[in-house]
Amino acid sequence: MTGTAYLDHAASTPMRPEAVEAMEAAFRAGAANPTGAHKLAREARKVLDRSRTTIADAFGTDPGNVVFTGGGTEADNLAIFGVVGARGGLPACSSIEHHAVLHPVQHLGGHVFGVDARGVVDIADLNRVLGEIEATGEKVAVVSVMLANNESGVIQPLDDIAAVVRERSDAVLHTDAVQAVTWLDLKTHTAAFDLMSISAHKFGGPQGVGALVMRSDIDLVPVILGGGQERERRSGTQNVAGISAMAAAMAATEADRASLVSRIDALRTRLIDGLRSVLDGVHESGVDASGDRSHKVAGTAHLCFEGLDSESLLFLLERGGLYASAASSCASGAQEPSHVLAAMGVSRDLAVGSLRLSLGATTTDADIDLALSVIPAAVDQLRGTR
Ligand code: PLP
Repeated sequence: MTGTAYLDHAASTPMRPEAVEAMEAAFRAGAANPTGAHKLAREARKVLDRSRTTIADAFGTDPGNVVFTGGGTEADNLAIFGVVGARGGLPACSSIEHHAVLHPVQHLGGHVFGVDARGVVDIADLNRVLGEIEATGEKVAVVSVMLANNESGVIQPLDDIAAVVRERSDAVLHTDAVQAVTWLDLKTHTAAFDLMSISAHKFGGPQGVGALVMRSDIDLVPVILGGGQERERRSGTQNVAGISAMAAAMAATEADRASLVSRIDALRTRLIDGLRSVLDGVHESGVDASGDRSHKVAGTAHLCFEGLDSESLLFLLERGGLYASAASSCASGAQEPSHVLAAMGVSRDLAVGSLRLSLGATTTDADIDLALSVIPAAVDQLRGTR
């Protein structure tokens, strides 16, 4: 089999044609600064306003509640540092958060609560942590729980979590919805939360653009100071072309989400069933013995292969034309198993053999065919069975 397949959409998904068009149109219109007073600046401001309305509509909120940022990491940092800066107290988050949340929480001396073996927040542990903070005499400033996990694809029950937190504290609730936009209706899933982070390149917009969507009554100190753009909440000239492309991607996503989810869910089932039918020792993370995947976003197939390491696997997959990623960080050179898998209780031996295959709007049957040919061959070769 020849050709290539890109199954790394959770890392960055290709731009939607509508987003490319919007970006090109903004570039063609000139590069006016939206805060200026002349006609071209006013036109840039109109593009910004329209984009803000599109993003706000996706959350069922007002345009004034949308703060444009330079991506998901910045939106997450603004949520944690911004709320703690405004209210004092301590932050708390789940143990499976992206580092864009986890590191700010740890930096501020915050607390972390665990998840169960499926990767779903452990409500008893959340209660324990809230009590632990209360016992120090501090207040809980903000609780952050992601909507969908970037490795396992597991969706968190935000309504249940909000109910527990609201019952015992007045903490602000933040959710990192970065991995959820392609797959979930944001209006229903985030309704119970106060702050939501999104990132354009995870749903067909460009890299380096995102937003923090907030309720109007939430106090937030800015983390970037300067000209006072975004109602003093995030200074810096807005990336008009990128923001307009993000809005176009959001509109396209909202329009075809339902059909995309069912098409991709079927492809993912074919992929996992196909691998399982020819390979032993394949563990799907976040799924119990029932095999139910209804608590996962449709695009993620996260697997751990017994008896191999993902670095070697990825090398062979790339040679076979398949682009995917391991759910582990190699920043230090030495392969460290993912903190998400560790939090779910996956053993180190199994976690070092993890593979994240993430599907998206451009994924086709041919991509799955290629994966079903290349992955078993690579796994057999590494296990020495071929
Ligand atoms: N949060 C989650 C869940 C993510 O998956 C990512 C990116 O991988 C981020 C935050 C960071 O977003 P960005 O790449 O836009 O900074």
